[in-house]
Amino acid sequence: MPDLRPRFDELLRRLGEISDVEHAEAILTWDQETGMPPLGAPARAEQLGALARIAHELGTAPELGSLLEELRELEQSSDRESFEASVIRVTRHDYEKKLRIPSELRAEMTRAASVGYAAWLQARDAVDYEIFRPHLERRLALTSEYVACFAPFDDPYDVLLDDHEPGMSTADVAAIFERLKAELVPLVAGLGEPVDDSCLHGYFSPARQREFSLEVLSRWGMDDQAWRLDDTVHPFATNGSITDIRLTTQFHDDQLVGILSCLHEFGHGIYERQVDARYERTPLAEGVSSSFHESQSRLWENIVGRSLSTWRFFYPRLQECFPERLAEVPLEEFHRALNRVAPGLRRVDADEVTYPLHIILRFELERDMLAGAVTPSDLPEAFDAKLRDYLGVEPRNVLDGVLQDVHWSDSSFGYFPSYALGNVISVQLWERATSELGNLEEEFERGEFGPLREWLREHVHRWGRTFKPPELLERAVGGPLDAEPYVAYLRAKVEALEAA
Ligand code: ZN
Repeated sequence: MPDLRPRFDELLRRLGEISDVEHAEAILTWDQETGMPPLGAPARAEQLGALARIAHELGTAPELGSLLEELRELEQSSDRESFEASVIRVTRHDYEKKLRIPSELRAEMTRAASVGYAAWLQARDAVDYEIFRPHLERRLALTSEYVACFAPFDDPYDVLLDDHEPGMSTADVAAIFERLKAELVPLVAGLGEPVDDSCLHGYFSPARQREFSLEVLSRWGMDDQAWRLDDTVHPFATNGSITDIRLTTQFHDDQLVGILSCLHEFGHGIYERQVDARYERTPLAEGVSSSFHESQSRLWENIVGRSLSTWRFFYPRLQECFPERLAEVPLEEFHRALNRVAPGLRRVDADEVTYPLHIILRFELERDMLAGAVTPSDLPEAFDAKLRDYLGVEPRNVLDGVLQDVHWSDSSFGYFPSYALGNVISVQLWERATSELGNLEEEFERGEFGPLREWLREHVHRWGRTFKPPELLERAVGGPLDAEPYVAYLRAKVEALEAA
């Protein structure tokens, strides 16, 4: 075999350049949603469009294709889990996929996303869906063009799902969701009076919330050398590299949800932060799928962040931050309020039990829109009807309904299922971690979160995109995707609340 090392180094050089452009794009998007003045939007849309086009051109260059051909031998003679074989395999997968999409279409989708986001903000300010509707129509048309690039397929939604959940079919997702719906719709309909959560409402200084959140996150593993936290409208996490993690949140002065969204975004951040440093500037340096990403955010936000043991450690400090609100509130009351279950209108405020139903209705609507069964004009009414049917709630206006999520303005369709699939995976990982590590709750009570974080590094984070999601799950938990542990977890949660 000829010495292929120089050719592999050439591959790494090219991949590094692509990664640089993509991360520049990520940081410009972060800036757009954190600090950019509104009139920066049109120019920013052009800038993001230009970077997306450059990344696409670099990622589909014929030279990259011939390098991948030359390196087949190296890939086949290396151990499948090795850095070399994994980089070549994952690059080939991405390359073949990108080749299908014309770079003009890619740039147009990015531009439309940026303009769509600005229109979504305007429509929300004006409480007027009609401002947003033409942008949704445009995005839907572009999505159909995109899907057509991958013909033939069994289900058009498979194409979108594959961008977020490689190795999973729409039929798999629909089956898991049918199981959840059958369980949760009656469970939610049968809920008793919700617990009193008035202790979570009232004036909470945003500056203090920020200070407290940073204390929790630094206990969990955040540091100011590699992380930062900023304000935005719709919280998200992104990164400029493995050592540059950007979390965002929104602190409201009348409730504490901004703290919980910090805990959520931390889960995303720690995943990217704990990818093997050797993968930097390669396509391996990223979470393997959206559902795995959401499994991390949900695990830290819900399983850790709403546990009584965690708050045994943090609650005294929270009381110190907000003595006028919480000094007289016992820990158990605060904890029950934090775990309150009650059907509501907004997905991002939803509790753990009703949350999957918000996702399932969006998944169904996306499939219907893609099939033409629901048009953007029908969408507000179709959205409200499902809120009524699954959750028994009635929106007052489009802010509560169809305009509540950012996703249909600036991201691709096909992302929502990942949130609920992430919940399913999070409970599978938690069960496995506790079976191997013993009683983690005792650790949390002492403020020790390192053992869980390190277990996740070892079994999930460090691998980046080395394995496809089903294989990574199999290796981490010893089985396939399974809704049952999650269903049992939710049932136990409701029973505990009703018993209290
Ligand atoms: Zn998330």
